[in-house]
Amino acid sequence: MTEHELPAGQTNVASGEPLVRMTEVNKHFGDLHVLQDINLDVAKGEVVVVLGPSGSGKSTLCRTINRLETFESGTITIDGEPLPEEGAQLAKLRADVGMVFQSFNLFAHKTILQNVTLGPTKVRKMGKADAEQLAMELLERVGVEKQAQKYPAQLSGGQQQRVAIARSLAMRPKVMLFDEPTSALDPEMINEVLDVMTGLAKEGMTMIVVTHEMGFARRAADRVVFMADGQILEQQRPEDFFANPTSARAKDFLSKIL
Ligand code: ADP
Ligand code: MG
Repeated sequence: MTEHELPAGQTNVASGEPLVRMTEVNKHFGDLHVLQDINLDVAKGEVVVVLGPSGSGKSTLCRTINRLETFESGTITIDGEPLPEEGAQLAKLRADVGMVFQSFNLFAHKTILQNVTLGPTKVRKMGKADAEQLAMELLERVGVEKQAQKYPAQLSGGQQQRVAIARSLAMRPKVMLFDEPTSALDPEMINEVLDVMTGLAKEGMTMIVVTHEMGFARRAADRVVFMADGQILEQQRPEDFFANPTSARAKDFLSKIL
């Protein structure tokens, strides 16, 4: 069986090989060296939380992995394959690498159910009935199945973000990227989204999570990656990072938020 025949969501990674590998990745925005020699390996099933001050390049890092941004040098592989340049392979990449943003980005003129079935039918070529069954299972899993026939504006922010997670999961991604998924939410809705993410982590989803929720980082992360000024300054287990950050920037960062 070649890798292209693997069912969606399954991976090729031999044990120990990273599912996501960034090697010496560099990117500029004009004069700003926003990603500087980034080396980051994420193993299958690993949960990596990316921390760092605003402007340090966390979002750009995520967007580069999903090829929403280009980069100038270095390599990124997903499941052993280099990121595609364009075309149909790019759509497959976006399906394999799910992304959840701060702003939920649901299609306003489509129902919740349609939001979730769109990708599987269009990109994964799944039949409508199968896609709807899958969508309902996922909406149930994130606790919004009763909202299936409503439109995004009829849901709370926390519900919309859970739909966005279900929509990504419907593509059976190999890895999920979360870029500050709870930053736009009212405080009382943050936990309902973090609980879904914690459940995913426990079930073995490979995740890269940019967040300021330190409780989530402590609870769910296998590793904390600390970024500042376009560089990865530390990579540690959360208990070590929080107890004993080594860089001055990380100490300063933690002193401001804890
Ligand atoms: P973070 O997510 O850690 O806050 P970002 O990756 O969003 O950081 O941004 C890193 C730096 O790159 C910031 O200085 C930001 O202003 C700049 N930046 C981000 N996107 C662009 C862009 N499209 N064009 C120019 N500069 C950008
Ligand atoms: Mg950001």
